[in-house]
Amino acid sequence: MACLEDYLRKGSMPHIWCAGCGHGIVMNSLIRAIDKVGLDKNRTVVVSGIGCSSRAPGYMDFDTLHTTHGRALAFATGVKFANPELNVIVITGDGDASAIGGNHLIHAARRNIDITTVCFDNSIYGMTSGQFSPMTPTGRFATTTPYGNIDQPFDLCELVKGAGATYVARSTTYHAPLTVNLIAKALAHKGFAFVDVLSQCPTYYGRRNKIGGGVEMMKWFRDHAVQVQKSRGMSPEELADKIVIGEMHSSVKPEYTGEYRKIIDRAQGRGPES
Ligand code: SF4
Ligand code: MG
Repeated sequence: MACLEDYLRKGSMPHIWCAGCGHGIVMNSLIRAIDKVGLDKNRTVVVSGIGCSSRAPGYMDFDTLHTTHGRALAFATGVKFANPELNVIVITGDGDASAIGGNHLIHAARRNIDITTVCFDNSIYGMTSGQFSPMTPTGRFATTTPYGNIDQPFDLCELVKGAGATYVARSTTYHAPLTVNLIAKALAHKGFAFVDVLSQCPTYYGRRNKIGGGVEMMKWFRDHAVQVQKSRGMSPEELADKIVIGEMHSSVKPEYTGEYRKIIDRAQGRGPES
C-alpha cells in the first residue's frame, strides 16, 4: 500500500468540513479503495458537483473537476467519452445526486457507462445550512421541515438498480472497512457502479434531530445497520428504521463507451455490419 498522503493535496489543507463530519471518512475509504485496486492516479479523474461532499476532489491529488450542482455525472460522461481509457469517479451528495441531478443519475445508470459513483449520503443539504433532501427520512427535522418531514425518501440503491446500474452497494462511515471493500469492487466493475455511503452531518442533521455529535451518529449507524443477506428474511416493519448495508446487486451488461466504439467502427467501415 502506498502512503495515503500521496493521494492528497496537502497544500489544500485544512479542509472545510466541520468537526465530526463523516465526509473525511468516506474520502479516506475512497482513497484506500483506489490504492487497493491499484488505479494509476495519473489515469484517474475525480468529478464532483456542489455541496460539502463535492469539496472532496479539491483535496485529492488526481485530475479533478469541481463542476455545477447536480451535473457531475454529465461532466463525467463527457470525460469518459473523450477518453474511455481513463478511470472516472464521481463524488456526489444525496441532494446533488437525487434532486437536481436525479435525471443524470438514472440515465447514467440506464446507459451502464463505466463510471463509479460514490454518494456521500448525509440525508440533508449540509452546505446550504440543512434543508431537507430527497433522502431525509419521513418525520425527521431539517431547517425547512421544522415540524417534521412529510416526504418519503428514495431508496437510492433500488432507484439506480431499477434504472439499470450493474453494481450497487451501501455502507456507512461506521463500517469503514466494508466501505473500502465495496468501493474497491465498484472501481473494478465494468459498467455503472454506485455506492451509497451514509455519512453523518452533526452540524445540521444530528443537532436538528437530537441524535448528538459525530460519534453518537456513527453509533446510530452501527445500531441500525443490517447486512443485506439478513435483511432478506425480515419484514418491512422490522426494516422500517434499519439501514441495509452490503452488496445489493452485481450484473454484467454491455458497457456504453464500448458499444459506442462499435458504432464508430461500423461508421468507419471496420465493423461486421458496415
Ligand atoms: Fe459535514 Fe454537515 Fe459540516 Fe457539511 S455542514 S461539513 S456535511 S457536518
Ligand atoms: Mg447531503
